[in-house]
Amino acid sequence: MRPPATALRRRAAALALTGLVALLAGACGKEGSPPVKGPKPGALPVYQVATDVQLPDSATWRRARSRGHLVVGAKEDQPYMGEKDPATGTYSGFDIEIARMMAASLGFDPKTVAFRTIASANRETALQNGQIDYYVGTYTINALRKKQVGFAGPYYVAGQSLLIRADEKGIDGPQDLAGKRVCSAAGSTPLQRIQREYPKAHAVAYDTYSICVDNLLSLQVDAVTTDDTILMGYAAKAPKELKVVGKPFSTEPYGIGVPRGDNALRFALDDAVATHEKNGDWTKAYDATLGLSGVPAPRPPAIDRYPAS
Ligand code: GLU
Repeated sequence: MRPPATALRRRAAALALTGLVALLAGACGKEGSPPVKGPKPGALPVYQVATDVQLPDSATWRRARSRGHLVVGAKEDQPYMGEKDPATGTYSGFDIEIARMMAASLGFDPKTVAFRTIASANRETALQNGQIDYYVGTYTINALRKKQVGFAGPYYVAGQSLLIRADEKGIDGPQDLAGKRVCSAAGSTPLQRIQREYPKAHAVAYDTYSICVDNLLSLQVDAVTTDDTILMGYAAKAPKELKVVGKPFSTEPYGIGVPRGDNALRFALDDAVATHEKNGDWTKAYDATLGLSGVPAPRPPAIDRYPAS
């Protein structure tokens, strides 16, 4: 007879495969038919490109102008928020739409935006060394990060939550994590919160949340923790295997990261967020992306136009 550990590993491998297949199926769909979940191209707003933009005080904007297009940092494995289609290389999701509407307001055709995938732990460096012009990817505004980068917005407020296997019993919130293995992304605020406020949980860090989800499906960890926006996307792609539990236990205001000190760019983006909230683009973009999770569009948060720094 096979020792139980091997049997368990086999079951784990089979489960992981099921999960991955389910995730992929959600991303691709049948040829000629829209994806099961995910933004329907027709429903996405078309953003009016501003024609008379001049931002001479923004070094970032001037550099993008002479380059001819914007380079924007994003996530590629967060369904509904920032996801890259492996077949076409196209990015989609609410964050991606925010990035595109910002581009239009800065005078760039959103179709020309070059997206670069940047993991949570590398965002500040990418902005500091000029790898990207701005960053839109579930990026929480906080005091510590404000010492390294600037933030326009917020354009949305998420909350930390938990993703577990659908058949898991006994984890209903962070208070149940003592002795459990909990996965999150390196350099993220949810990882820090678990380590700081729930020290009895065994925190495990990887570069991305999709690696955490693979580890959850293969029984290597007991839970994945990050923003509800991200976790809802994974649960929707593998509803038989995964579920989000409990109430959000933090406040994560999402900002558009800019190089620190480029106040001209930051204020222009604050204005742009306000414009697109007012003209209905924000809600249309939400409905076509994150809204597919079933949560109706909330009222966008107040913009925090903090003084030049
Ligand atoms: N919003 C959190 C953060 O900025 C978690 C999501 C992420 O890692 O992008 O750290």
